[in-house]
Amino acid sequence: MNKDIFLTNNLSNKKEKFVPINEKEVGMYVCGPTVYDDPHIGNARPLVIFDILFKVLKCKYGKNSVKYVRNITDIDDKIIISAQENNTSISELTKKIIKRFNEDCKFLNCETPSEQPKATEHIDLMIKMISKLISKNFAYENNKHVYFQVNKFNDYGKLSNKNLEDLIAGSRVEVSKNKKNPEDFVLWKPSHDGEPFWDSPWGKGRPGWHLECSAMSKKFLGDEFDIHGGGIDLLFPHHENEIAQSRCANDTKIFANFWIHNAFITMSNEKMAKSQGNILKIKDFKDKINGQVLRFSLMSAHYKQPLDWNDKLLSDSKNTIKKWYTVYLSLKTPSKIPDEILLPLYDDLNTPGYIANLHKLFEKAKNGNENDKKIFVSACNFVGILNESKNDWLDFNKRKSLISEKEITKKIELRNKARKNKDYREADKIRDELLDKGVLIEDKDGKTSWTIK
Ligand SMILES: [Zn+2]
Repeated sequence: MNKDIFLTNNLSNKKEKFVPINEKEVGMYVCGPTVYDDPHIGNARPLVIFDILFKVLKCKYGKNSVKYVRNITDIDDKIIISAQENNTSISELTKKIIKRFNEDCKFLNCETPSEQPKATEHIDLMIKMISKLISKNFAYENNKHVYFQVNKFNDYGKLSNKNLEDLIAGSRVEVSKNKKNPEDFVLWKPSHDGEPFWDSPWGKGRPGWHLECSAMSKKFLGDEFDIHGGGIDLLFPHHENEIAQSRCANDTKIFANFWIHNAFITMSNEKMAKSQGNILKIKDFKDKINGQVLRFSLMSAHYKQPLDWNDKLLSDSKNTIKKWYTVYLSLKTPSKIPDEILLPLYDDLNTPGYIANLHKLFEKAKNGNENDKKIFVSACNFVGILNESKNDWLDFNKRKSLISEKEITKKIELRNKARKNKDYREADKIRDELLDKGVLIEDKDGKTSWTIK
């Protein structure tokens, strides 16, 4: 489409026209998973969001002109702790989680990025970068540790709008007697006994986490590239530190031109956190719902807005896709999607706006000819929806519902008890809860029966 792409750039906090450095080699780097545990629904949001951005960029610049790099952090404190807790080796653990991560990406119908580099395969590049930072006086060694000296980089804090005083006053900086200044961050640290280590000029140790993205983006995309993405939790300190390391080591005015961050997922309006016990893993959905329902739910809010996750969101998404399958036909080649339909995606990846357009196309397809149906299905396929055949979709839903039969029976017993006690409010609450999970109940002749919607 001959229209411009606009994206909200966190460097300026403004929506800007996207102009790549080189239209033939558009580069996007997205911080990928730390492979210590199975991915959860919060991890799934950037997977889907940046997958859609990848598709939009390819639509604009050509499918061979976009390079999407997403790293895998396979060495980190969390990984070491998780391996110890699970009584397994680090390599066994990371191998297992990488496999599950790839399965989850497939379930969400995400394309494989152009490159998926692993941190442990690029330690030599990280050591080289640290040596360069030391030689240029941006970093220093002390007691087998190497730190980046933040006050040597004038633009530190520009991405996250933080100044050094705030940083020092805040509790987010790690205190260490080895540091010259509290805001300095670690580039290299010694490994403890039993931990993995690599030889370096500063002794046996391992890199600080921030460094890997600077080293791997340089290798695959160069010193300066177009888009850097990730979850909003990475904006500070991770992305701020990446900018400091890369710009000082490479001696450049920029690192990435555009910084794009997706907002959090909340669970029934509460923050999702391990301590809250409300973490939903992607694999836990596999027995209950089709992957495209999950994908569609993740697209339902604009990426800059928090997305509240609840059963109603899932059942609404399921109902929409179920409805859309009524006009499904299999496509040999996709139809051209009209410009005005694609436009919301070009305008800051407005997925809710695109979904609204899909609804319009559906209405047309419902009463229209085969060509209208083809355009509708092509437009769905463009964002990774309706990619499986109608039979596969129907087969899946026959077998799965959001709630098990045992749970349904238990809920109905509780509802009958409430009705017996004339607690109709509770009874209605249970009925609505079941409805949210796609279960319709009916009372007839003193008996309650149920069906899956
Ligand atoms: Zn990163």
